[in-house]
Amino acid sequence: MRKPFIAGNWKMNTDSRTSVELADAIAAASLTVAGQGVTIALMPPFVYLQAVVRTLSGSHIAVGAQDVYYEQNGAFTGEISASMLKDIGCTYALCGHSERRHVIGEMDELINKKVTAAVNGGLLPVLCVGELIEQRRAGKTAEVVTGQMKKGLAGLSGEKLSAVTIAYEPVWAIGTGLTATAEQAQEVHALIRKLLGEMYDGRLAEEIRILYGGSVKPANAGELMSEPDVDGLLVGGASLKAEDFITIIKAAA
Ligand code: PEP
Repeated sequence: MRKPFIAGNWKMNTDSRTSVELADAIAAASLTVAGQGVTIALMPPFVYLQAVVRTLSGSHIAVGAQDVYYEQNGAFTGEISASMLKDIGCTYALCGHSERRHVIGEMDELINKKVTAAVNGGLLPVLCVGELIEQRRAGKTAEVVTGQMKKGLAGLSGEKLSAVTIAYEPVWAIGTGLTATAEQAQEVHALIRKLLGEMYDGRLAEEIRILYGGSVKPANAGELMSEPDVDGLLVGGASLKAEDFITIIKAAA
């Protein structure tokens, strides 16, 4: 039985005051649902991680980073390592979010190094995969997602895979207000689980959580979560409003 997982990606939003206020409001309101078996994680910008970790201490809510670098330390100006994130109390790290793939220009090989370094550094990576609208229209969704999965997880043993969560985020649905239908999400999630079964084994594939992301809102969270292979939601915009995010958590519970 896979535990539902709701993660809030704050992207480059909030400030030193509002990050703490938002975390505090979510922690207070989620006290009842956290006990009902939902994994909850908040992913603030790097500079507010420590303050959010402090705010959430004693709650059931974990903290994740939006990215991680693959080296441990050294001359890598501007980068943050898994050990640094672990050191300040982070549990999760996003790897290969579509904005890093398509705005910053990250490639699968780099993302694979990040996933591997995150696991080796004791973090739980969330590997994001998803197709562009042109790729979907060209009937290439399965091909694109399969390639991102295989390259992103290359060299990772089955034992290490159990630390990984997959997030299917169709790029055309992220921040656009367009949501994949529950059927469209389920189709790709089932494909991802089948692929994990082929790459590893069926038992492990059944254990891995696959989240959907892309304009998730209180109004569509329940329907998406009702699909058998949708194990949780990666929420961007709606995670910036405590009330909306809590409603989404409740839909998962
Ligand atoms: C995301 O940031 O991963 C995301 C899905 O954003 P939004 O919910 O705003 O589409």
